[in-house]
Amino acid sequence: ATPTAVVASVGNAARRGGVIKGGVTLEGAGKVTAVCLDKTGTVTEGNIKVVEVVSFSSLTKEDILQKAAVGEKFSQHPIGRAIREYAMASGLTDIPDAEDFRMLYGRGVQATYQDSLIEVSNSKALEHQKKQSDPAIHTFIKDQEQKGRTALLVIVNQEIVGGISVADTIRQDAKVMVAQLGQIGIKKIFLLTGDNEETARTIAGEAGITHFRANLLPEDKLHVIQELQAQGEVVAMVGDGVNDAPALMLSDVGIAMGVIGTDVAIEASDIALLSENLLMVPEILSLSRRTLRLIK
Ligand code: ADP
Ligand code: MG
Repeated sequence: ATPTAVVASVGNAARRGGVIKGGVTLEGAGKVTAVCLDKTGTVTEGNIKVVEVVSFSSLTKEDILQKAAVGEKFSQHPIGRAIREYAMASGLTDIPDAEDFRMLYGRGVQATYQDSLIEVSNSKALEHQKKQSDPAIHTFIKDQEQKGRTALLVIVNQEIVGGISVADTIRQDAKVMVAQLGQIGIKKIFLLTGDNEETARTIAGEAGITHFRANLLPEDKLHVIQELQAQGEVVAMVGDGVNDAPALMLSDVGIAMGVIGTDVAIEASDIALLSENLLMVPEILSLSRRTLRLIK
């Protein structure tokens, strides 16, 4: 190996906001055949906002929003933050503390307040509903998901009282990144998300990504990577680091985005992008390919 080639490439990448850890990594990066992209915070900005609030009951939209904000009071998820912010901006002055807050894995949250059990959950909640639900609920979910939004149901004492949809914006450079990956010969690009099928399809479509896997729990993201590796692919995983640390670690090349301040991400990844510039991904991969050719 010519150390000069490695050092020069690392130097270049570093100047442009990417930190590559070690020459082995660079070699691995030059052999990548498949790229997995996490949806929230990677392909999208991760800046989730509430778009619509609807009532399926006698409660007003304000009531629905207030219930949801209480249910999400202690949530760390960007969806929880978005609902609380929107509720405050809509005039709710104080969000009372809920009790017995818990997260529903891959679905949402649950908490109790003044003897009612409040749940804010995605459409998976319908699977747990005993009663036949209002067709308006299904229409709301379908309609929002087709628009690439995430539909959430506000459930009080097992009754679906309203719906809230949230949306994230796709990163401006996502489409160009996908096109550039194609140009360097990487055509197997996967969008991975815990979000629903329809939203995943819409976001993938907007970014020009042909493959997607939805409804994934964090461990399922690992399984997708393992599956690809078993098929002989050399897999790069691009994620925001916090939720994706295991997937970043298992992939052949883990690329963490916008990692300033998150040690976990830097620790778990092989390449840490200090900027939020997605185009660094094809740039580093193509740089590594060229460097590999120089070394050989
Ligand atoms: P991802 O970050 O890939 O969307 P998560 O596991 O964080 O995956 O969440 C999966 C899905 O669960 C979300 O898309 C959303 O539908 C639902 N969800 C997660 N947390 C919340 C929350 N606090 N409130 C409502 N829904 C949530
Ligand atoms: Mg997540």
